[in-house]
Order: sequence, then C-alpha cells, then structure tokens
Amino acid sequence: MSAVIRRGADKPSDSKPLIALRAVNRVHDAGAIAALRNVDLRVETGDCVAIVGASGSGKSTLVNLLCGIDYPTSGAVLWEGRPLRSRRDWSRLRRFRIGIVFQEFNLIPTLTALENVELALLGRRLSAKLRFARAAVVLERVGLASRMHHIVTRLSGGERQRVAIARAIVNEPQVLLADEPTGNLDSASAANVADLLFTLCETTGMTLILVTHDDAFAARCQRQVRIRDGVIVDDTNPAVPFRPSEPKDAAKAAT
Ligand code: ADP
Ligand code: MG
Repeated sequence: MSAVIRRGADKPSDSKPLIALRAVNRVHDAGAIAALRNVDLRVETGDCVAIVGASGSGKSTLVNLLCGIDYPTSGAVLWEGRPLRSRRDWSRLRRFRIGIVFQEFNLIPTLTALENVELALLGRRLSAKLRFARAAVVLERVGLASRMHHIVTRLSGGERQRVAIARAIVNEPQVLLADEPTGNLDSASAANVADLLFTLCETTGMTLILVTHDDAFAARCQRQVRIRDGVIVDDTNPAVPFRPSEPKDAAKAAT
C-alpha cells in the first residue's frame, strides 16, 4: 500500500484548525538552548502530516507540545481555536481525544498486551467486561488477536508497537501523534507498523501526525513539515499557504 493520504488540505482558511501552535518558543537552560523558535503550525481535522528533520531539530518537542506533555516557554497551543493552559484540560484531551505512540513503546512490561490496552480505558467508567471487549476488538484490529494474553516482553518489537498503537486508539482519538514509531524496528516490522498507521488513518478519518526519519513513510503523508534548528523551514500542502518566518530571538521571546 503506497497511496498518499489526502485529506484535510481543502479546508477554508478561516475555519478553526483542530490544533494550532501560535508563535511558540520552547527554550531550555534559561534560553541557552532553543528547541523551537517562533513556530506557527495549523493541523486540520483529517490531516496526515509527517514531521521530518535531523536529530535534535525539535521534532519531539513539537509533538510533546501538541499533546501537553510539555508546555511552550512563550506562545500558545490551541485546540479547536481555544488556548489550552491547564494540566487538567490536557489530561482530559489525552484521555479522550489524543492518542500517542512513542519510539520506545512505553508499555508496562509485567502486563499482557490486553491489560496494557485495558489500562487506557480505566478512566472511562466501563465495566470490566466492556473494557475487555473493547481492548480485545482493538487488538484484533492491529493483528494481535492470537497474542493478546502474552506478557508484552514476550512479544517482538513490531508486536509491541502494535500493542502501543492499540492502546493509543482504544479511546477512538481524533488525533494520533506518533514520535518515530518505527525507529526501533527492523525494516519489515517498520513497514508493517507504518501500513497499520496509514490504514487506521484512512479507515477512521483520524488525524495523523507522524514524526519519521523514513522518507518513504513521510512521502505517504499528504503533507510534510520540515524542522531545522527549531524552525519550520518547509511545509508542503498546508491548508493555509506556508510562509517561512524569521525566528525571533528565543531568549527575548521567552521573557
Ligand atoms: P528531535 O526530536 O528532533 O531529535 P528534540 O525535540 O528532542 O529533537 O530536541 C530539540 C533540542 O532541544 C535538542 O537540542 C535537545 O538537546 C534540546 N532539548 C530537548 N529537551 C531538552 C531538555 N529537557 N533540556 C535541555 N535541552 C533539551
Ligand atoms: Mg525526537
């Protein structure tokens, strides 16, 4: 499967984006390190976006800001046009509307695949029976029906990442953020995991933001955002035309 996923790019420019960064700076060490500099970004519902750039360019920082794991030093992150500030708002979004997949899987090693996925349902006041049923359906969907009762450390890397994807989508999020999800996998498993992500994106209409080093995976996204030294230097196919911005002095902007 290698079709480019095209959605979201035909939104009117005055509609509210699903998520937006507005003049965002993120600095560390009192401004000595600028992870992101004056970043503006709009992600529309249904977008399929690749975030690309060299190691250390700010990709993970961007993803972490988009899900409230990290906060801007200055500037704003908006969800459907509203600025998000409190941890409580973010945790609600992460519970119900944002799914996250990491390079390192981040599963609980002593639990089974099923239990790992069920954990994501704990905040939903579902009966144990319903939790089991939902988790089982999603694990089946990612191709792990026969492995769901295995402790995750007994699974291969590709299978573990499928469990992590199942956990991320079990609450049917609007957006799936994946930070180098294939970075720890051999090429065959990486291709399987990428196929799974693109298929989920196509069949559910879920917005996908995919950080990847793999040009072939990036090319399958409708849009590629390139970061260099904390600045977005290219953005193909955004809903609103891209104009590169001069980064403001990050330390000054942070004060
Ligand atoms: P990427 O994901 O593209 O490899 P990151 O977003 O992880 O890049 O990092 C961007 C820059 O910010 C790097 O120079 C990194 O060293 C720095 N950085 C990230 N997190 C921290 C932190 N907690 N403290 C200091 N520097 C950090
Ligand atoms: Mg990273």
